Amino acid sequence: AFRRGLATAAPGSRMPPYTKILSGLEDVRRILSPQRALTLAEKILYSHLDNAEESLLSNTNNGRDIRGQANLKLKPDRVAMQDASAQMALLQFMSCGLPSTAVPASIHCDHMIVGERGADTDLPASIQGNKEVFDFLESAAKRYGIEFWPPGAGIIHQTVLENYSAPGLMMLGTDSHTPNAGGLGAIAIGVGGADAVDALVDAPWELKAPKILGVRLEGRLSGWASPKDIILHLAGKLTVRGGTGFVIEYHGPGVDTLSCTGMATICNMGAEVGATTSLFPFSPNHVPYLEATNRAAVAAAASEIAAAGPQSLLKADTQAEYDQVITIDLSSLEPHINGPFTPDLSVPLSAFADKVRAEKWPETFGAGLIGSCTNSSYEDMTRAEDLVKQASAAGLKPKADFFVTPGSEQIRATLERDQTLSTFSSAGGTVLANACGPCIGQWKRTDGVKKGEDNAILTSYNRNFPGRNDGNRQTMNFLAAPEIVTAMSYSGSTTFNPMTDSLPTPDGGSFRFQPPQGYSLPSAGFEEGNPAFQPSAAVPDPTVEVVVSPTSDRLAILEPFAPFPSQDLTGLKVLYKVKGQCTTDTISAAGPWLKYKGHLPNISANTLIGAVNAATDETNVAYDEAGKKYSIPELAEQWKSQGTEWLVVAEDNYGEGSAREHAALQPRYLGGRIIVAKSFARIHETNLKKQGVVPLTFADRADYDRIDACDQVDAVGLHDLLKSGGAGEVALKVTKHKTGETFTIPVKHTLSKDQCGFILAGSALNLLAKGKQ
Ligand code: SF4
Repeated sequence: AFRRGLATAAPGSRMPPYTKILSGLEDVRRILSPQRALTLAEKILYSHLDNAEESLLSNTNNGRDIRGQANLKLKPDRVAMQDASAQMALLQFMSCGLPSTAVPASIHCDHMIVGERGADTDLPASIQGNKEVFDFLESAAKRYGIEFWPPGAGIIHQTVLENYSAPGLMMLGTDSHTPNAGGLGAIAIGVGGADAVDALVDAPWELKAPKILGVRLEGRLSGWASPKDIILHLAGKLTVRGGTGFVIEYHGPGVDTLSCTGMATICNMGAEVGATTSLFPFSPNHVPYLEATNRAAVAAAASEIAAAGPQSLLKADTQAEYDQVITIDLSSLEPHINGPFTPDLSVPLSAFADKVRAEKWPETFGAGLIGSCTNSSYEDMTRAEDLVKQASAAGLKPKADFFVTPGSEQIRATLERDQTLSTFSSAGGTVLANACGPCIGQWKRTDGVKKGEDNAILTSYNRNFPGRNDGNRQTMNFLAAPEIVTAMSYSGSTTFNPMTDSLPTPDGGSFRFQPPQGYSLPSAGFEEGNPAFQPSAAVPDPTVEVVVSPTSDRLAILEPFAPFPSQDLTGLKVLYKVKGQCTTDTISAAGPWLKYKGHLPNISANTLIGAVNAATDETNVAYDEAGKKYSIPELAEQWKSQGTEWLVVAEDNYGEGSAREHAALQPRYLGGRIIVAKSFARIHETNLKKQGVVPLTFADRADYDRIDACDQVDAVGLHDLLKSGGAGEVALKVTKHKTGETFTIPVKHTLSKDQCGFILAGSALNLLAKGKQ
């Protein structure tokens, strides 16, 4: 009877496809035995497998060792993309020639909007400055049936929480803080554009089965402590790498004491400890949030599923085991401040002043910034408002500049109606556009702090690496809950503890804050706000022409890469022999290059510019056979123009760091065919294969020393291996360019049958496009 009540989601519907997901879970129970206890994350992930039997039983000791072993091939329910990363994702999607996306998708224009003087002036200026990119995204969205949230509509994660996230959903987002949606019980994973394209074209998306870190919450937060403090505290325990390879699954009696948006804040910052994602089980607090955000039907369906108890899709089984468990007592948790420069340097508020003095950090700070995707809920803002009202009643004004970034138009309009924003403005605060702004280096400071000048700021954001907010690497960003940022802004001092210290008032008295009070949801409901910020319809329109100007320097249509030749690759030359670490940032630098993310030829001018030359220790200095000096991309361009294909030689963990598809696309575009390394970072290795570049590892690591820049290389056995779907041996025949000496070195590969197909077709997308024609 239940199944009949849950229709499969119609196009544009915000209802997760529960019928399909529940049927997937039944299959998983059958394959692994109904007695096998599963965590919540396992239930949601495994019920989204494309071929559950194959994923769960291959290479897993017959299903006994899935976590950390199995290669999950997943079919997510939804994709969300932010404006910077959506560009290359859409360009790749377009090259497949499909009429619409295979799963519902949305685009959110948030990253390219400046925070300077306030929303009214900043938003129009940013739209003007990025018009061609926004026009492209909007036209592509309309053509392919993707919901387009225009600049001003809000930040991707807040908008996803308000509209798309739902208990049991599995989604991908092209942004690291996609796990924010886990606050509403979804598995939401941050990925690169090429991964998003997998889901958009209905190809399975691959993920090594994560381990599960259980965080048990006990007790109840009180006074000044807020959900942000849970994750600030946890980040201190786990460090920035402690969650790598894990999903963080919250459970325990403390869960039901948290608001839905508070849970989202906690999941948002799971990205800071490297977790694959974070999530909460279904909570009674999900229901009023879903209802208040126009999703009563989703609330009813999820409640009905959860009513089946711990066996249900939306909770962990009673006997479920975690790979590791951390317990946090919310009743004794105090506010924390994390930073500077790393989110895991966590100090309890009561110890912070001493730490500031001991570390000689600045004792004053110039700005307090609250909001962003991490902390702009109604609860966050009304608790901050309460503090502002207390201080205003005492005649106080903030000493530090005070900025507020609403996460969405819905929250902004609601706060405007309820006069929360006017409370902030009357106190001297500046309300910025509903966008990322100061969180992502788009903060144009007007307070006179110069580049290179030591200074401190306090933010309720999630990241604080050098240069993150204002481009000044000397700006120390201390992360805290919005309540703490707000209260401390009234002293402008990093040694002020609002829980215990007092401030002098203008009339000669003394003022002390009382613990903040707020509301998790607005009693009069949410406002929709400006109708111009509503999304476009999720209906494809083939008559819409995608707008890319041929003269644009920011966008260029992708030309499909040529298929693999009908014989082995011969006559390649070693472009560069890299010494030491080579991250995706080394291969495709960010910073000013982000502007060209949608223009492969232009962004390719940054290829490998951070790489150290193994022969000379110089960075980004390459030499041709004649000894002529080039930058690496210049030499690659030169060889490309001469029709010479090339390879790179590297050391361990080539391509570690963020999953940046440009780090695979750019070498391929410039004529790179092989990367031979001592070892690869797994995600980058997969990305290379998707773009038609062959990743190989030395069978004997010492062979790294025998091969040099400009040596000529022929692949031996590679073509046969690709044709056979991965069977056989492959080697590289090396001819020294200086001496003419020739030798052969054995190399290894990890190419699956599917991946051999990608490389033969020229790229994964070429293969897909062929299959769909
Ligand atoms: Fe990322 Fe900051 Fe924007 Fe959130 S507000 S999506 S963390 S840039």
